[in-house]
Amino acid sequence: MDQMQALNQIHRPELGDTVPLSVFRIFRQFSAQYSIEILGEKGVKTTFTYAGRMLGLDIGKELYAEDLNEYLSGVKKYVYEAKIGILNLVESDDEKMVFQLEECITCAGMPNMGVSICHFEVGMVAGIVEFYLKKKVSASETKCNVNGDECCEVTVMLNPVSSRLNSR
Ligand SMILES: [Zn+2]
Repeated sequence: MDQMQALNQIHRPELGDTVPLSVFRIFRQFSAQYSIEILGEKGVKTTFTYAGRMLGLDIGKELYAEDLNEYLSGVKKYVYEAKIGILNLVESDDEKMVFQLEECITCAGMPNMGVSICHFEVGMVAGIVEFYLKKKVSASETKCNVNGDECCEVTVMLNPVSSRLNSR
């Protein structure tokens, strides 16, 4: 992605290429909160999830390996080194894949506010899975520190249309 290359060009001889995590969270949360006024909650969720999905597809493209375990360990390494969190596949069957993200960049350590806020990470995980499977999936945040859980968890439904029909 050209945009990614452009973003990676950092020239800050004095300040360097890292920022305090709180600064990232301020940008992230303030953007989300003010966007709610314009886009509504659903709109914000969709926007951030879609943005995360773009990153996930990009990560997938970069790290693709035919073997799923090899692919996911490459992804885990990337996510860890980028300090997004510690990503683990904790459950997997024909219908779904469940990923937990410990030490989540967005929410780890935050108090329970009764909501899930990691829409970007949800999209990122969905994009990573989508790139591997070469098909659309649906994903949701099934645990979040800000919802009183001990980590973030993204559940990816691999056959979203049929599973929606089944639940009727
Ligand atoms: Zn979260």
